[in-house]
Amino acid sequence: MAKIIVAGGGHGAIACAAVLAENGFDVTVYEQHKREDMGYDWTDIFDGRTLKPLGIPYPEKDKYTVKSDVIFCGPSENNYFVQRSPKNQPEIRMERKDIYNLLIDFAVSKGVKFEFEHNIKSALLAGDRVTGIKTDKGEYYADLVLDGCGCESVIRKTLPDCLGIQKNLKENDLFYVYRAFYNRKAKDTVENRFKLTLFSNGHHGISWVTTEDDYTDVLIGRFKPFNKKEANEALAQIRAMNEALGAKKLRGGSFATIPIRQTLAIMVADGYAAIGDSAFMTTPLIGSGIANALKAAKILADVIIADETKTYSAETLWKYQRKYYQSVGMIITPFALLKNVVASMTPEQIDYVFDSGILEAKSKAAKIPHAKAAELSANALEILVRVRNLFSDKQLKKLIGNTITKIAKLSLLISSMPKEYSRNEVQKWAQKYNRMFD
Ligand SMILES: Cc1cc2nc3c(=O)[nH]c(=O)nc-3n(C[C@H](O)[C@H](O)[C@H](O)COP(=O)(O)OP(=O)(O)OC[C@H]3O[C@@H](n4cnc5c(N)ncnc54)[C@H](O)[C@@H]3O)c2cc1C
Repeated sequence: MAKIIVAGGGHGAIACAAVLAENGFDVTVYEQHKREDMGYDWTDIFDGRTLKPLGIPYPEKDKYTVKSDVIFCGPSENNYFVQRSPKNQPEIRMERKDIYNLLIDFAVSKGVKFEFEHNIKSALLAGDRVTGIKTDKGEYYADLVLDGCGCESVIRKTLPDCLGIQKNLKENDLFYVYRAFYNRKAKDTVENRFKLTLFSNGHHGISWVTTEDDYTDVLIGRFKPFNKKEANEALAQIRAMNEALGAKKLRGGSFATIPIRQTLAIMVADGYAAIGDSAFMTTPLIGSGIANALKAAKILADVIIADETKTYSAETLWKYQRKYYQSVGMIITPFALLKNVVASMTPEQIDYVFDSGILEAKSKAAKIPHAKAAELSANALEILVRVRNLFSDKQLKKLIGNTITKIAKLSLLISSMPKEYSRNEVQKWAQKYNRMFD
């Protein structure tokens, strides 16, 4: 029975562990936190349909609500467009702790073992092959290590350079967020229950305020790290614009990071596969990190189960990378290019786009739920063309023009990903891919 270590209890990693255990693998998850401390003290939105292919039961009705319409505002909040949530909404909002309970209970029921309070320090290697993990409690060996340690994964960072797996992040690769729930001040009806403001108060990033019946949920996200004092200043400004937002913190109140960059160019090696945030599977500007990780979990489990050689080598695991890129990566990576455009714009330029009306509710993109990233991506391209035509600023026009060209080239490049793993060929491809996002 092949032995598999899941390093870090990421969502996709746990789901993959469950499918593998169900298929006879000996799987152990090593997680730094206690079970009850896993995940954040807040809610997440994800596409509930991603659970079924993994055999994970749909959450009980009292554990989720459906996502509401989102009002996108420009920095001045003078203009906005609405992203409507259709009635048969596949995206659900759940407490992160409940998502973890769902995944862990399922994994345990399939035979996955969990070792909590194990702080992973590094990958263990035999030559270039990953053979296990070193933790604060000891060294553990396996036939395959699945890296579910998140965007700052210590496993990824301690792999040998010759594998060509990117370790360090670049500017604008991460989004820094503060999130907390506050009391709800005014009890009057709130028209825009989920309001998201771009470049709020002139800072490059977003803020959102979700007004629920009993509380308000605030997120402040920026392209650069910020501290508690700056978060409090931003909160005061957001409060001035949102009457329902009270000052009494109910829960949350921590800082975290979300990857907003292209998916890892090489996510496998001998004895190693990255999944979830450790492979940067979030859709930049949109999120969907949980749903994308769950989709990856099914692909990865199927590839491992089908590995008749039982070598779990880069050659066999490469099929996972190819399939993931074909079904998910191809659709989401253009958003990393769009992010570069947004990050380079000024608040005034963003307001100008909103004021021009090209994003207004009648635009097609406004009607597409996040879950349909492919359609959103096609419409984003259409909007990008309209935004380019809006500006006379030569530099911005050039950047948008280049981005439009790159988006077209990117899908060709992904289609030309080597069919078989050869270190040389794969690394050459990875260099071309990463250069697209410079
Ligand atoms: C404020 C915020 C809001 C978000 N909202 C949404 C949303 O609404 N919908 C959505 O789909 N996504 C959302 N995301 C993104 C989502 O959290 C991730 O994309 C998703 O969880 C996939 O990441 P992961 O599970 O692979 O990694 P992570 O969530 O980072 O989990 C990694 C796990 O590995 C463990 N670990 C890390 N290092 C070590 C170590 N050295 N030793 C042992 N264990 C370790 C961690 O403790 C953790 O349990 C949000 C993120 C943030 C920060």
